[in-house]
Formats: sequence, C-alpha cells, structure tokens
Amino acid sequence: MLSVRNLQVSIDDNEILKGLSLEIKPGEVHAIMGPNGSGKSTLASVLAGNENYKVKEGKVFFEGKDLLDMAPEIRAREGIFVAFQYPVEIPGVSNINFLKTALAEIKSYRNLPPLEARDFLKLLKEKQKLVEFDASLTNRSLNEGFSGGEKKRNEIFQLAMLDPKLAILDETDSGLDIDALRIVAKGVNKLRSEKNAFIIITHYQRLLEYIIPDFVHVLYNGQIVKSGGKELALELEEKGYDWLKEISPTDE
Ligand code: ADP
Ligand code: MG
Ligand code: MG
Repeated sequence: MLSVRNLQVSIDDNEILKGLSLEIKPGEVHAIMGPNGSGKSTLASVLAGNENYKVKEGKVFFEGKDLLDMAPEIRAREGIFVAFQYPVEIPGVSNINFLKTALAEIKSYRNLPPLEARDFLKLLKEKQKLVEFDASLTNRSLNEGFSGGEKKRNEIFQLAMLDPKLAILDETDSGLDIDALRIVAKGVNKLRSEKNAFIIITHYQRLLEYIIPDFVHVLYNGQIVKSGGKELALELEEKGYDWLKEISPTDE
C-alpha cells in the first residue's frame, strides 16, 4: 500500500530525514517510536504533503502511484488521512459540513455517486454509535474550543466517517493524558481491518499496550535504525533510546 524508499528531507537546509525506508501492507498497524526531534512528525508532514519540507532524495508510492507528485487534497482523496497532535480549529465550519464536503470530494474523485442526504445521516448515526461519539459535537465548529479529549474523539470520528485506506496518527509528545490515549486506542481497534493500515507515531510505549501493532520501528536521527514486533516497544520502555546511538550509522 505504502512504499517509502530512501526518503531524505530537509527544512531550511537542515537534514531531518536521512534515508528512511518503510513498507506497509493492507491490514497492518505500524508503530513508529523514537526520541524527541528524531523526525517522526516530519515524516507525517511529508506524507501529508506539507510544502515546507523539501524532499531531497527518495520516492514514496501509495498503491503504486507517486505520492510526492500529488497535492495534499489529492492524497486525502486517494485515501490517506493524517491526524496531527494539534488539529487545526476552523471557526465557522461545522464538523458536519466538513465531513459532508470531504466525503463528497472523495466520492467524486473516485467516480462514485454522491451520497444522498438521507444516507449521509444514516452513516453519521452509524459511525457515531460505533466510536461512541457525542452527537452534540457534530454540529460544533471544527475543533473550536474542543478539549484535548474531545479533539481525540473527533479525530477518531473523522476516521470512522472518511474510512481512509491509510491513517497516520501523530500522537507524539506531551498533552495526551491516559484518557485521550484510551480514546484513540479504542477507536483504532474498532476501525482496523484487513483493508486499511495505520501508522501510529508515538513517544509512549503506553499507547501500544492498548493498540497492539504488527510492527514497531524506531526512528532515530532521521533513520529507521531498528524494526521488530510489538516486543520492541517493551524493550524501548526498559532501555530508553540512548543505546541506539551505537547502532545509528549517521550519528555524529
Ligand atoms: P519528532 O516529531 O520526532 O519529535 P520532528 O519531526 O518534529 O521530530 O523534528 C525533527 C527535527 O526537525 C527537529 O530537530 C526539529 O527541530 C526540526 N524541525 C522540524 N520542523 C521544523 C521546522 N518547521 N523548522 C525548523 N526545524 C524543524
Ligand atoms: Mg517532537
Ligand atoms: Mg513530533
């Protein structure tokens, strides 16, 4: 589904990703862990199409298509969803209108018939129930004044509604309490299937007690220096990240 090959990315002449490769198949959940500043959020931003980051080398294919050639909105229509830790607040655009528009764009891009109002409402109800989303949040402005937990609930609800092929969740750093982690974990576990894939970016081993990943990758100094199964997360929890210095080829 996703193939990242030797990705090298800079911002303002600083090399951040230094040859990152990653292969993801449908049905898989990949966790990316790593210390602060290792480039985790940069990877999410580049996959989302943030133009502040310059791709110097490497290729990214999504279902065989050149992802780096696509505008951000095309990536979303192709089925990539990226959730950042601090989602944008869009005053004046209700959640429901955002979802309606996004779904209409996806349908039209894929040459599918538009969703009738009745079917949209049915879908809305069904997904609200599935991820236990409070209907009162649906009509509010997108993320405006949402608490941390509400933002997470909303992120999961958007995921449920848009049903992306690949979801990238950047849950790193501070600000996520245990309740928020649980909301994300429960949602991901309900939504994961043989057809979709997840990249869960996290600082915390704790999240991976709730979401059992198929693969864990350690991003260190702009490269994936180690990959393994879920037990790698436990190893990191025990040993921290310092020991990775020895196996990081580009560490100065
Ligand atoms: P992580 O998410 O793993 O903590 P980031 O991808 O946020 O790491 O950052 C990797 C490195 O790139 C850090 O050294 C950070 O300071 C730098 N960086 C990230 N974004 C920017 C930016 N917009 N401008 C300048 N430097 C940046
Ligand atoms: Mg960080
Ligand atoms: Mg980050």
